[in-house]
Amino acid sequence: MNAEQCYQGSCFCGAVQFRVSGEPHGMGYCHCQSCRHWSASPVNAFTLWKPEQVTVLKGEEQIASYNKTPNSYRKWCKTCGGHIFTEHPGMGLIDVFAAVIPDFPYDAGVHVHYQEHQLAMKDKVTKLKDVPEEMGGSGEVIEE
Ligand SMILES: [Zn+2]
Ligand SMILES: [Zn+2]
Repeated sequence: MNAEQCYQGSCFCGAVQFRVSGEPHGMGYCHCQSCRHWSASPVNAFTLWKPEQVTVLKGEEQIASYNKTPNSYRKWCKTCGGHIFTEHPGMGLIDVFAAVIPDFPYDAGVHVHYQEHQLAMKDKVTKLKDVPEEMGGSGEVIEE
């Protein structure tokens, strides 16, 4: 068996270094108001991993955390302010932002919370009104 594929990631300044290994649980774009507001961007490109797939290699003490709700613990680097990832304890998954793992072959499989979108993305990828049923959503699909 081959060793699991690993991808290096870092914050904007490099003080925090980490790696993800194996295959993500899912990946796509989140259009929700919270993601847009916190990231100050029109959409969040996410990749979801189990906590054991994410290893902080350097700068653990540089990681700050804020949670507005118990569902999302948003993490960033205290030195540069660069976003790193968001822990979702309820789902048991960590959202590692696609932008911080540049070598990872990101390939969106779904758009979530598309009913809240500000930036229309006509990419033929499934657009969910909120989130999949297995994540407590309606699972409803919205046409492009
Ligand atoms: Zn940094
Ligand atoms: Zn979101």
